[in-house]
Amino acid sequence: MTTTPFSLSVVIPVYNEEPNVAVLAKKVHDALSAFGRTYEIILVDDGSRDASWERLCEAARMYPHFRLIRFRRNFGQTAAMSAGIDAAKHDVIVTLDADLQNDPADIPLLLAEMERNDYAVVSGWRKDRKDPFINRRLPSILANGLISRITGVHLHDYGCTLKAYRRNVLQGVRLYGEMHRFIPALCSWVGGEIAEVVVSHHPRVAGKSKYGIGRTFRVILDLFTVKFLLRFTGGPMQLFGKIAFLFGGGAAIMLLIVLLERLFGSGGAEHLYLIKRPFWVITPFMLLAFCMQFISMGLLAEVQIRTYHESQDKRIYAIRETFESPPA
Ligand code: UDP
Ligand code: MG
Repeated sequence: MTTTPFSLSVVIPVYNEEPNVAVLAKKVHDALSAFGRTYEIILVDDGSRDASWERLCEAARMYPHFRLIRFRRNFGQTAAMSAGIDAAKHDVIVTLDADLQNDPADIPLLLAEMERNDYAVVSGWRKDRKDPFINRRLPSILANGLISRITGVHLHDYGCTLKAYRRNVLQGVRLYGEMHRFIPALCSWVGGEIAEVVVSHHPRVAGKSKYGIGRTFRVILDLFTVKFLLRFTGGPMQLFGKIAFLFGGGAAIMLLIVLLERLFGSGGAEHLYLIKRPFWVITPFMLLAFCMQFISMGLLAEVQIRTYHESQDKRIYAIRETFESPPA
């Protein structure tokens, strides 16, 4: 258990949420000023085309501890969250949607759970989710089951943005593509326990959802990448090498059978082998080619992985301007 209470960085991605910004800013401010911790509220405007940025600046002038980041264009929710996480200064990072579907009043619940048992991640669970069933909740149930199974990190609600992370755990995680929903699974690589807390959920009352059913497919593709990153960044050669051995072994066995037949089998000149048993002669060479392919793919991947790890200073977004609440 830690003795000093955690300080908090709240990170909120904002894209075309003009009608929600004022209420959101007030709710987050109210929740955090009442909570009594050191905090900052980082809002990342992901290239909104409405007046979200102007509304955000108004909020930052009105309330203390607001820090705003504005992207040059729309880079996506993952990039927006990533920028907020990079900018965060405090012990615990809480992420949250800007559309008021999550309730900022739940933030202390997540923190209490984290402090209770020294968890690395506390994930919000929208048990009573207020979204349409067929195109939102059903795909989400299937996706959560699949992600849990494949990553081995069992959560009811990967899609809920309201989650709390230890900053030292989260900063070891680099986000690409649309990977924000996999942050808990990626955090498991760093180590540390993950807990779940039921949070409230509200229907979207203003603004539009930025996603459709197409997201399901992108999530599944990202899942492959996450699985790969989790298991094989340690050594892709271990994966490709095993497959190579499989093909190489198959080739060796088949050639051995041909050889034994040639030595001990009954009749037939050797030059007939290719004609009589083409499968047993051609296939092994094909398998050997596969074997070599996988070995070289493994080696290439090893090189890639090193590049991946050693060039992490790249950012997946570009900042246009920033703004902060004036000092009190
Ligand atoms: N968002 C963003 N960039 C995008 C799309 C969405 O920053 O390109 C933000 C959006 O403003 C909201 C959060 O990400 O705060 C979740 O988006 P949304 O509510 O549309 O997703 P849903 O809740 O429908 O899954
Ligand atoms: Mg939403």
